Amino acid sequence: MKKKLLLILVIFLIFSGCIKTKDDLPQSEYIYEKLRDSDLKTEPKSQINQEINKTQKTIVEKEIEKQKINKTEDSFGNITSIYKEETEQQSETSETQEKEIEEFLEWAEDHNIEIVGVNKTVNDFYYNGSKDGDFLDPKDVPNILEVADGLYKIPDDLLRVMDGKTIYISHQYGRGYSVLGSWPDQGILSGMNKGTIIEQPLTSEQAVHEFGHILDYHGIRGIYYDPKNLWKNLDVERNDVFKVDFEYNPNLVEPPKGYMDVYSTANDAENFAQHFMYYILAGNEFRESAESDELLKRKYDFFKEELFEGKEFG
Ligand SMILES: [Zn+2]
Repeated sequence: MKKKLLLILVIFLIFSGCIKTKDDLPQSEYIYEKLRDSDLKTEPKSQINQEINKTQKTIVEKEIEKQKINKTEDSFGNITSIYKEETEQQSETSETQEKEIEEFLEWAEDHNIEIVGVNKTVNDFYYNGSKDGDFLDPKDVPNILEVADGLYKIPDDLLRVMDGKTIYISHQYGRGYSVLGSWPDQGILSGMNKGTIIEQPLTSEQAVHEFGHILDYHGIRGIYYDPKNLWKNLDVERNDVFKVDFEYNPNLVEPPKGYMDVYSTANDAENFAQHFMYYILAGNEFRESAESDELLKRKYDFFKEELFEGKEFG
C-alpha cells in the first residue's frame, strides 16, 4: 500500500515539474547525446593500435635499458660516463620538446585558440565546472605535441571555426569531449568556454577527431547559434552523406559497406568526425577503400570538394 502511494506521489511530482527529467533541458540535448556517446565502449581502432605501438615501444626501450646495465656490469665499464651521456641526451630532448611546445602555443595564439592544460576529467568538468586550481602549465601535460601534430595538418580556412574557442588538454585518462556550451543554471559545464577537452593518452587521431566535431556541430550545423557557422550551406548535404539510419552494434567484427570502421556507425556525429580524421591522417587508406565503395566515395568527395578545396593527404 505504501509503495503504491509513493509511486503515485512520484508520478505527480514528475508531471507537476518538481522532478527534472531530461526533457526539461532541451538545450542540453546534444550534450546528453555526447555524454552517452562517451560511454560507448568501442574505441576507434586506430587509437587502440597506437596504444599498442606505444606500449610495445616502451617494452623495447626498457629491454634496451636492461641490456645496457648488464653490459656495463659485465665489463666493469664506467657506469658514470654512460649515466652522464644519458642525462645529457635527456636534457637535450626536453629542451627541444619545450621549444616545440612553445611553438605550438604561439601557433594557437596566432589562430586565436586558447590552449589550457587541466588536471580534471570530462565527467568532473561536466558536473563540477571549471574552477581555479584546475589548470596546469601545458608543458606539464604529457604527449601534448601529439595534439600539435594533428592540428598542424588542418588548413587555416577550417581552423577559423576554433577562433575564440578553447582546447582543454587534460592530464587525466579518458576519451575526449566537445564542449558545445556552458549551462551554469543547470550545473552543466559551468565556467567552460566552447571548444573541446582532450584526454590522455593524447593522440593526433583524438585531436583531429574532436576538431571534426567542432567543425560539424558549430561550423556546419550551427548548433547554439555559433558565430562561426561559416559552412551552413553544407548542412543539407552533410545530413544526407553522414546519416546513420540503423542501430549501432559495437560488436561487429567488420565495418559495414560505406564505413571505414565500426565506431563510425555509432551515430551521424561520430560518422562525420571519424571520416574527417581518416581524411587527414589516413588519406591513402580512405581513397583506396573509396574506389570500390560508393558511399565512402561520397564521404571522401564531400571533404575534398566542399571543405578542403581539393587538398588531399597521404
Ligand atoms: Zn566523437
